[in-house]
Amino acid sequence: MFNLDEIKKIGKNVGFFRFKKFDNNYLITNDIWKYCFLTEEEFNNFIKWELIEWEKYEELKEGWFIKLGNEEEYKLELAKKFAKKNKFLAFWPSLHIIVTTLRCNHKCQYCHAAVAPMTANELDMTEEIAKKVVDAIFYTSNPDLTIEFQGWEPLVNWGIVKYIIEYAETKATYLKKNLTFALVSNLTLMDDEKLEYLIEHNVWISTSLDGDEEIHNFNRTFTDGNSFEQVTYWIKKINNKYIERGVKQKVWALLTVTKKTLPKYKEVIDTYVNLWLDWIFLRSLNPYGFASVKLKELWYNVDEFIDFYIKSMDYILELNKKWINFREALSSIYLSKILTEYDPNYLDERSPCWACIGQVAYNYDWKIYSCDEGRMLGRMWDDNFLMTKIKDSWEETYKDMIESDTTKIMVQASTLDWLPWYNESVYKPYIWVCPIHSYKSTWNIIPNYSKDSKRYLDEKVLDYLFQNLRIKENKEIFEKWLGMENNVVTSQCETI
Ligand code: SF4
Repeated sequence: MFNLDEIKKIGKNVGFFRFKKFDNNYLITNDIWKYCFLTEEEFNNFIKWELIEWEKYEELKEGWFIKLGNEEEYKLELAKKFAKKNKFLAFWPSLHIIVTTLRCNHKCQYCHAAVAPMTANELDMTEEIAKKVVDAIFYTSNPDLTIEFQGWEPLVNWGIVKYIIEYAETKATYLKKNLTFALVSNLTLMDDEKLEYLIEHNVWISTSLDGDEEIHNFNRTFTDGNSFEQVTYWIKKINNKYIERGVKQKVWALLTVTKKTLPKYKEVIDTYVNLWLDWIFLRSLNPYGFASVKLKELWYNVDEFIDFYIKSMDYILELNKKWINFREALSSIYLSKILTEYDPNYLDERSPCWACIGQVAYNYDWKIYSCDEGRMLGRMWDDNFLMTKIKDSWEETYKDMIESDTTKIMVQASTLDWLPWYNESVYKPYIWVCPIHSYKSTWNIIPNYSKDSKRYLDEKVLDYLFQNLRIKENKEIFEKWLGMENNVVTSQCETI
């Protein structure tokens, strides 16, 4: 219970903060994502505005935990900093995912139920739809656009990928928009001609690499050869081409963690390091999408994943101490929120989440979904996350997208400020919620703090990071990660 008398004693110079007991200390954070550790004595002295050591006082002042001077000026400065951190809200979708086909030559364990056979040409996007999709994309308000090709395997519908690239390039020049392309592919249909074209047109390439040969080939069923051999061949070849051309970029490889991955964390990380990749993304399996049909073989509980995450991170830190520059992506995103002035604006990890207002997924068949996960559910005959269908005019399409009930509901359901307990959490500035995760795990798109396994996982990850930020050597490694090139920008994809 709140004790009003105690609250009244809080010094008028103490700014707003959230807190939690962290080991024997207190961790405090505020709305501009600053943090500070205080001993129990410092914490008590601070809130009563009694004597604290000069160094700690300076740290609190720098983190805007202390109100000094004119109150209005303090609020204005704070508001400016808050706006800077949330500037992504000023623009509408920047990531436009285009599903060019439902066909794929793999039948991965976690998505095999959704894959269309290679003969199902009728499940490819047509030129007529592709043109209308690009028109709609360029009608959106964001000056920076990323078009990401997904499929199931986009190289299966290569003609449409090329058509979209060339049409979008023309529009970008004419409308003066910054355009980036990304292709998410299993790389088994790659060839020299396609690679040349992709490099020529500045298309960033991302693929799936699920670990060493044993795990990768187990997860990613492929009957036309050895998937691991082919994907690693192309990763090396593409990275060499980038070096030859002076392109400061590497292939992004994405890991999907299944039960088989958990004990082999070292082997998986070593595989990435030996391929000269800069980072790994420790992504847990989602309780939705197509992994659900094979749950027993693939699934693990959150605590098992946390154990895997901690062991992997300890190992990655060990490698860094041996001068091997290698990062973990999820941690880097959180670290960037904790240690820099800007939001990395990556994926869904913001409040409200990306759905509808940050990313949109255009299906091969006229349908536009809230996000990649929304379209995956659509493939499972659940159209709850459908925003609209492509209309004859792009004005009409964009208006329908923005005004759809899905858009309004997704924004509301993923905004932390009104969600009980999330808003009170010391990690509120860093965490995010996923209405689709909540919908699939609790049948309610409004997340429930106590039942939210994703929130539980995020908070454990943040506990680990804050613990390590208190160790000077590890903090320096984390800071170095944020200054490295080849930062993570593509979307997550469970189905490549
Ligand atoms: S609904 Fe979930 S998957 Fe979709 S953008 Fe939001 S957080 Fe991401």
